[in-house]
Order: sequence, then C-alpha cells, then structure tokens
Amino acid sequence: MSSRRRTLLKVIVLGDSGVGKTSLMNQYVHKKFSQQYKATIGADFVTKELQIEDRLVTLQIWDTAGQERFQSLGVAFYRGADCCILVYDVNVRKSFDTLDNWHEEFLNQASPTDPKTFPFILLGNKVDIDGGNSRVVSDKKAREWCASKGNIPYFETSAKEDYNVDAAFLCVAKLALAND
Ligand code: GDP
Ligand code: MG
Repeated sequence: MSSRRRTLLKVIVLGDSGVGKTSLMNQYVHKKFSQQYKATIGADFVTKELQIEDRLVTLQIWDTAGQERFQSLGVAFYRGADCCILVYDVNVRKSFDTLDNWHEEFLNQASPTDPKTFPFILLGNKVDIDGGNSRVVSDKKAREWCASKGNIPYFETSAKEDYNVDAAFLCVAKLALAND
C-alpha cells in the first residue's frame, strides 16, 4: 500500500491589475511569459502538481479575470482558500499601498477560521525592469509591511525572467499544506 497522500490545495492570487498575477501563474505552470497585456478571460484556475516529502500536492491556483479593477470577486472565489498570494509591482507605489486593502478584503471575504494564523505570502514582482533602477518600493519597506502583518514571507520575483517563481510557489505549497 502506498503511503502517498494526494492533497488538493486552493490558492488565490490577489493584487492590483497589471502587477503580473497572471504572468507569474503562467510562468510557474506553463513556463511561458508574454509581454502582451491580456485581460484574463476564461478559466478560473490552473493546477500544478508537486511532490512535497511523501505528499502529492495539487495546487489549484485561482486567478482574477480582470474584475479586480472594478468589482468584488464574489464569495465562490475565496471559499475554502488554503493560502493567499498577494502581489505588487516594485515599480508602482500604488500597487504597494493597496496591499492593506487586499489583505483586509481577503480576510473579510474568505473569513478563515483563524485570521491571525492564515497563511499569506507577498510577492514583489517585476524586479527585472530597468535593472531595478525604476523601483519605488524598497525591499526594506516590503519586509516592514510583512512584519506588521504577522511575519508574512516575502519574495522578490520576475515573471519575465523566471526569477524566484518556483521558490515562491514552493513556499506557497508548504504554507497551504501546513494550513490544510
Ligand atoms: P495582472 O493584471 O496582475 O494579471 O498582470 P499581467 O500578468 O497581465 O501582467 C501585466 C503586464 O505586465 C503584462 O504586459 C506582462 O507582460 C507584464 N509583466 C508581468 N510580470 C512581469 C515581470 O516580472 N517583468 C516585466 N518586465 N513585465 C512583467
Ligand atoms: Mg490577470
């Protein structure tokens, strides 16, 4: 008899429109990056299987279909989430300033059993742009925000250059698994 256990984990990705949520997911799941901006249409989620120790884990990663701009995502989107990935663009101040709202929105909508210990992770994306010269949010500022929310893990990423993408999602999987 196999000792392997299969686990389905729901992960949701939140953050302002344009920060690279869909691109990060595409890079992670399909190893593809597109420069073109396309509002996400169609599938609500993508899946990725990975092995963590003796567990076979299926990450079900939920993307927003562009409606993050103007409307609430609805309860079905949040229901049963095991981890929440917050994304901002290190070159866009506003996308960092709205993190508080996304964090709060998640807690209000998903109403996890224990909001204090629910696993979040923060990704500062697009660190490749202009060799980092156009960034407006420092690593330090981001880490301070994470500390203020109960030590949320932080990764700087580039969906374009596939920098830290696997590492970030592996962390997500482990957090979600621990919360399952
Ligand atoms: P979303 O609205 O948060 O899903 O953002 P998208 O994934 O659609 O990305 C918005 C735009 O930013 C697209 O033109 C992407 O090609 C671009 N983009 C996303 N991630 C990166 C990145 O890491 N580096 C660079 N240079 N561009 C990126
Ligand atoms: Mg998108």
